[in-house]
Amino acid sequence: MSKGVLTVVSGFSGAGKGTVMKRLLEKYENYALSISVTTRKPREGERDGIEYFFRTREEVEAMIQEDQLLEHAEYVGNYYGTPRFYVEDMLSQGKNVILEIEIQGAMKIKEKIPEAVLVFVTPPTIEELHSRLIGRGTETADVIASRLRRAAEESEGMNNYDYILINDQVEDCVDQLHQIILSERCRAQRN
Ligand code: 5GP
Repeated sequence: MSKGVLTVVSGFSGAGKGTVMKRLLEKYENYALSISVTTRKPREGERDGIEYFFRTREEVEAMIQEDQLLEHAEYVGNYYGTPRFYVEDMLSQGKNVILEIEIQGAMKIKEKIPEAVLVFVTPPTIEELHSRLIGRGTETADVIASRLRRAAEESEGMNNYDYILINDQVEDCVDQLHQIILSERCRAQRN
């Protein structure tokens, strides 16, 4: 059995990545979505072990020391990291694993695992990004402002990605992502 494809999906906060990932997993088989650890507080409705493993800074620092994370980064004042075990286990079972992580983490994964596929998801316009972030209604004005500043920085890093997907219609975006991963799975040079 061939190993699964490791796909890193990044995109501006508010680009709709979460919705795209949810639909991808509902619509197609053989995918596994990695659950990250974070020190940020849960948003309303988020549950420990489902959206994230919510941990203290001390706990995440201990995981870093013990090399339990494949990568980690700080994003707007909080740690985020990818637990190594689940990703390695799922890939060896032939599952296509998705990491939904920000750009510094994506670059670290590409360094460590060159065959990883990097996909950047963006809304069609910057105005659309503003209205999606505000419309979500889960963040304070300060946090929205920090996330928009961060988006401006991230737009410079977009060129390091293998694919850029415009999330205009969710279903189209999901289908395109699935096609990319299927094609990568057939790539002749994969290990
Ligand atoms: P949010 O707080 O909106 O859930 O996530 C903030 C940012 O952290 C998003 O860009 C998300 O993709 C990223 N992120 C989530 N998990 C991880 C992770 O394990 N590692 C890294 N580097 N970034 C992550």
